[in-house]
Amino acid sequence: MRTRWRAAHVLAHQGGRHALLRGGEVVWEDDTLVHVGRGWSGPLDEDIDLGDSLVMPGLVDLDALADIDHLVLDSWASPDRAPGLQWSRAYADRSRDVFSPAERSTIRTYALVQLALHGITTYMPIASEVHSSWAETFDELADMAESSRRIGLRGYLGPSYRSGVNVVHPDGRRDVAFDEERGRAGLRDAERFLDHVEQLGDPLVHGALLPCRIETLTPELLRATAELALRRDVPVRLHCLQGSLERDLVRRLHDCTPLQLVERTGLLETRLLVPHGLVVDRHPSVQGEDRGDLAVLAGAGVSVVHCPQTSLRYGDVLHSFGAYRRAGINLCLGTDSFPPDLIRGMDTGVHLAKVVDGRADAAPAEAYVEAATLGGARALGRDDLGRLAPGARADLVAFRLDDIRDGVQDDPVRTLLLNGSARLATHSVVDGRPVLVDGRLPGIDTENLRRRAQSLFDKMRAAYSERDVRGRTATELFPPTFPDFLADPLPPT
Ligand SMILES: [Zn+2]
Repeated sequence: MRTRWRAAHVLAHQGGRHALLRGGEVVWEDDTLVHVGRGWSGPLDEDIDLGDSLVMPGLVDLDALADIDHLVLDSWASPDRAPGLQWSRAYADRSRDVFSPAERSTIRTYALVQLALHGITTYMPIASEVHSSWAETFDELADMAESSRRIGLRGYLGPSYRSGVNVVHPDGRRDVAFDEERGRAGLRDAERFLDHVEQLGDPLVHGALLPCRIETLTPELLRATAELALRRDVPVRLHCLQGSLERDLVRRLHDCTPLQLVERTGLLETRLLVPHGLVVDRHPSVQGEDRGDLAVLAGAGVSVVHCPQTSLRYGDVLHSFGAYRRAGINLCLGTDSFPPDLIRGMDTGVHLAKVVDGRADAAPAEAYVEAATLGGARALGRDDLGRLAPGARADLVAFRLDDIRDGVQDDPVRTLLLNGSARLATHSVVDGRPVLVDGRLPGIDTENLRRRAQSLFDKMRAAYSERDVRGRTATELFPPTFPDFLADPLPPT
């Protein structure tokens, strides 16, 4: 089966880097690209003219939201309400799954559909554990792998695991409540899942070790993770260097910094991905200057999964994209929270970098596009992803730029970032198979999913109350923007 896409703009790959091809075409045979350029004259089974679109490598999201939106709830919290969104210490002893397995399955499908609709072709999932009795299970991820195969995305999957959970004591003190046996059981599930992936033998489903946040893992579990990753040759993604609370907890529990803990437990020897990676020596909350942390990360070949939109919405920023890049760190991108829109994420990142570094060329659009494509591929050790060149996998996406609201074009990449969003994605292909077609996912009832997700969100929102250390209602924890309109208001005083 041989297919051609033609478009006004193609982000091709040439001489080791991306190159803009005007009025170009991409041809693939089965799962592999065979031609990127102009003037294909061979036979075709399918020929699609995408008109005034930008065709580019499919987006790689390595901290991909695999959940319902929670940022809409928890990114506004005042200092007195914020601890209420965590587990109380008492809840840790009676925690429960807010959702049934069937409901979790719907949530996963909903999230994967969102990724596909936003032009993402390769992902590594992240979901909140706040709503689970502990972390993710083998069955949950095995089910997710099936949904992922049905939709046709390329996934790097594994159940999350941890030996502790962030809790709040009645006096407001933050802590981690440990249950080490649950951590060991989680790692066993993760290894079993690697076996499961091998048995599936599906080129779109890959195994990865995806432990939870660093402060919730014992050094023993971190060490066992590193050993397993090396033995099975799979990537590890560990949330760390994320915030100052994490840093305080790790210092208190292990008398070292999070980066030292990563180093001591052998994780720097693995293919390590670090989402966020904000709180290093350069960060203003630490020393505010480079004292060698970036060199340690770069020297170990660590990939930082930068999530500009999430960081900004929780009030933080990378210090800085340019500095990390110059230090030789592989930067890739993640969405991490809703909406999984890497176009908006890239735009946010480009402009935050201007503020942080104080210059307009601090992190140009092309640097972000490289992170979203080549950087992600590099983090996964894949030189056949993230680029449109003969021999690479046929993973690609088209963004239309033909609406008057998209504005004028000088450079299609800048127009897409500045004026567009991932909602402009109309077509995508993964491993040569169509996923997104004319802006839709064939065979998926998105309207039904939208309705079900809303009722599951309402259930999730209501469940915060039972975990709050002060037992506040959801309305108290999540006050609305404006008061409700009253049918019979009191007269003004
Ligand atoms: Zn994250």
